[in-house]
Amino acid sequence: MNRILIIGAGQAGLQVAEALRKRGYGGALCLIGEEAWPPYQRPPLSKQYLAGDFADERLYFRPLGHYTKLNVDLRLATRVTALDRAARQVTLASGETLAYDGLALTTGTRVRPLPVPGADHPAVCYLRGLADAQAIKSRLAVARRVVVIGGGFIGLEVAATARARGCDVHVVEALDRLMARVMPPVVSDFFANLHRGHGTQLRFGAQVTAIADTASGVAVRLQDGTALPADLIIAGIGVLPNQELAAAAGLTCSNGIEVDEFACTSDPVIVAAGDCTWHRNRLFDAPHRLESVQNAVDQAKVAAASLLGQRQPYADLPWFWSDQFDVKLQIAGLSAGHDQCVVRGAPTPAGFSVYYFKAGRLLAVDSLNRPADHMLARRLLSAGTAVTPAQAGDTACDLKSLLTAA
Ligand code: FAD
Repeated sequence: MNRILIIGAGQAGLQVAEALRKRGYGGALCLIGEEAWPPYQRPPLSKQYLAGDFADERLYFRPLGHYTKLNVDLRLATRVTALDRAARQVTLASGETLAYDGLALTTGTRVRPLPVPGADHPAVCYLRGLADAQAIKSRLAVARRVVVIGGGFIGLEVAATARARGCDVHVVEALDRLMARVMPPVVSDFFANLHRGHGTQLRFGAQVTAIADTASGVAVRLQDGTALPADLIIAGIGVLPNQELAAAAGLTCSNGIEVDEFACTSDPVIVAAGDCTWHRNRLFDAPHRLESVQNAVDQAKVAAASLLGQRQPYADLPWFWSDQFDVKLQIAGLSAGHDQCVVRGAPTPAGFSVYYFKAGRLLAVDSLNRPADHMLARRLLSAGTAVTPAQAGDTACDLKSLLTAA
């Protein structure tokens, strides 16, 4: 291979480029991103970046000179508009075409738009990229009343930051508890108490019907007739995979660009990695899509190896984190499909963990202010160590000793 293009200059795109060079690829390498900045970290956008003085440059993974050293042609503010697989070339928004003999799609996701009348009101913001974070940050400096629509990770992180900055904050959630898609009631309740304890108002089972101007300014209207006045409305209701380029070129897509355990698409010279993929991981029976730094990094390494014909299956344990006020939530493994969960320790801010099992087999562990539990959980899960629900729930049981016993 002599000409590799990477579409999407985010976490996964950068990792593909670095992994290719690390594996000895010496050919032409072009990393194309539609955003104006070199690859940067998104996690701080809803956390430290919004909270205070945090220069944009601190978000960048690497200084610009790094790309020159790596001999990577980094094209920023450049959108790829079409992919022609037969001709093995892509078209840029400028009309320029670039040929490839190997291609990586690392296009990430975009925010799901709020599907209600008035959603295009200027008071409504979303958070995916640095431009969004810059806009929210400057509005937070003057906003008093903030309504966050969506009680998931990003909505809650933004809510915590806005509250810490002194705003009156309402979180509006359609389901009956926080982070209900991925967390058990014990964790949802813990976070509900945490946010309420800091003075945030939470509304569950609340359907937003419109964003509308009222006599006292813009308001979020709910199905029960309530109107929540707001200076700033932040919608965090999930994301959609950027798969249109791939789908239009005939690559198989579902909830993401479909790739096998080698990060290969249905075209042998095209790989994909990161948030945009519906992928397989050897540790799990079913394919899935993940939105996490771990997946972007580890899957990108697999994708780079595949481009060079050095195939290695994806078999890395998923992990994730979220920071809300002074609580760090860390997740190891995937809890989907669990039939039992066991709490280790009392659910207080001092810290506790939740162990998930399916048919007695450990699937995942959520740790709250328990970094040592999290690191141990990653080792236990990666090694496939047998842990029983009784052992997990017994704080007197040294789970570390199970590792050495195995
Ligand atoms: P992205 O980082 O989204 O990069 C994709 C890039 O491709 C984008 O820059 C996009 O503009 C570009 N692109 C798309 N289409 C085109 C095109 N046609 N032409 C050119 N460029 C294109 N994960 C965690 O594990 N922990 C956290 O605490 C956490 N917090 C987060 C907080 C926020 C606010 C956000 C937004 C995400 C957070 N995440 C977190 C998720 C994590 O940041 C993502 O999983 C990760 O960035 C995915 O990397 P990626 O490279 O797949 O996609």
